[in-house]
Amino acid sequence: MTIDEVTRAADVLGADRWNIWMKCGLHDWAALPQTDSHEHYCPQCYTVWTAEGAIKNVPGRHAT
Ligand SMILES: [Zn+2]
Repeated sequence: MTIDEVTRAADVLGADRWNIWMKCGLHDWAALPQTDSHEHYCPQCYTVWTAEGAIKNVPGRHAT
């Protein structure tokens, strides 16, 4: 996947991303799959980590 595809997938999840993120629990980011540009991403909640392990797109909590 490219970083754009991961970002788009995260957008599609929208408000549900928070719940999926909570279900994921602690991510072993280094073991997660990588994008073409070497970020890591979670295939469940589409959170992205840089190659150094910094989270790029923590899901926001949405009030419903
Ligand atoms: Zn996840």
